[in-house]
Amino acid sequence: MTVAAAQRLIRPHGSRLVNRFGERPDGVDTLERLALTAREVSDLEMIGSGALSPLEGFMGRDDYERVVDEMRLTNGLPWSLPVCLAAAAAPQGDRVALADGSGRLLAVLDVHDVYPYDKEREAERCFGTGDSEHPGVARLYAQEPLYVCGRVTAFDRVPAAFPELALDPADARAAFAERGWKRIVGFQTRNPIHRAHEYLTKGALETVDGLLIHPLIGETKSDDVPAATRVECYRVLVENYYPADRVVVSAFPAAMRYAGPREAIWHAICRKNYGCSHFIVGRDHAGVGTYYGTYDAQLIFDEFEAHELDIEPMFFEHAFWCKVCGQMATPKSCPHGEDDHVLLSGTKVRELLAAGHEPPVEFSRPEVADVLIDYYRSAAGG
Ligand SMILES: [Zn+2]
Repeated sequence: MTVAAAQRLIRPHGSRLVNRFGERPDGVDTLERLALTAREVSDLEMIGSGALSPLEGFMGRDDYERVVDEMRLTNGLPWSLPVCLAAAAAPQGDRVALADGSGRLLAVLDVHDVYPYDKEREAERCFGTGDSEHPGVARLYAQEPLYVCGRVTAFDRVPAAFPELALDPADARAAFAERGWKRIVGFQTRNPIHRAHEYLTKGALETVDGLLIHPLIGETKSDDVPAATRVECYRVLVENYYPADRVVVSAFPAAMRYAGPREAIWHAICRKNYGCSHFIVGRDHAGVGTYYGTYDAQLIFDEFEAHELDIEPMFFEHAFWCKVCGQMATPKSCPHGEDDHVLLSGTKVRELLAAGHEPPVEFSRPEVADVLIDYYRSAAGG
C-alpha cells in the first residue's frame, strides 16, 4: 500500500491507531493471574489491535465515571461504554497476568488503580434499565465488585474462530488503501442476512467506494443463530450478489453488550478505527427485547456534534419487497400499504426454515435460505 493511499482514509479515534501487542515479558508465569470473562477477552483483543483506540488498557476511575455520566473520556473524546476489567480483590503486585477462561496467558496489565463501582448506576446509565432480565445488565450484576485499571501489553491471542475473516484495524485499513478506497461504509450485524440487509448495504454502497460487512462474532445470547452459520450466509450472499472488488467481509471480534443506543455509538467509533468513514445504523441497533425505542440508536447521534465522531452514521428503515413498486423499498421510499409488502416476522421465518421451506425469494436469497435450512435441520436432529 502506498502512504498516500493510507492517508486518504479517515483518521482513528484520537488520531493515532493504538497497538498494544508486544513481546512476552520475562517472568509472566510467576505473576498473579486474573481470569478474564469472554467479554473481557474480547475487549483485551480489541485494545491490543487498536480497535478501541485511543484506549491503551482497561479504564481508570476518571474515564469510567465520565463515560458513564457524559459519554466522554476525560480528554473530552466521545466514548459511550465502559471498557473495564472486574476483579474480586485488589492484586498484590503492580503487574498482573491476564488469562482467558482456559488459563491461556494473553497479556500483562500494569496496575494503575483499583476502584469500586456502582453496578446499578452503571446499568441505569449505560443500559437504560436496572432490570436483571436484560442480558447485558445480568452480566454486569454477575461481575466481581472491583475494577482494575492499567495499560495492557498483549503477547498472545485466542486463535480466531474464522482465520480467513480476521482483520485487525491496521489490516482493514491496508485492504482499503490497496483498493484505493477513501469512503467505506461499515455494516454491523449479528443476524443472518436477508434481502432487507442486502438492500440497505447496497443503497449505502451506491454513495461510497466500498463496503465492509463486519459481522459480530464475539459472545452473543445463546439463542442467536451461531456465528459459523451466519458467516456462511454472508459468504454465499456476497459470492452471488455483490461485486467482489467492492466488498470486504471480516469478523468484528466484539462481544455483544445489548446496550442499544450507547452501543451504536461505540460500534461506530470502533469502525472508524477500522477505517470506515460511514456506518449503517438500522432500527433498534444493538437492542434486545423492548428495552429501547425503535429510533433511539439513531437519535443518540444527535447528542454529539457531527465533527466529534467524524464517522458519518447512515440511518436506515426496515426494508421490504413491495409488489406494486416491484422492488425493495422502505417506508421512506414506498407509498403503498402493508398489504402490498412482503413482510415476515422473525418467528415466521424461523418456522419456515425449521420446516425445511424456503421463504419467498422476495424475502430471502435461496442460497442464504439453504444455509439456514441446513442449520435448523441439524439443530433439530442434534
Ligand atoms: Zn411500493
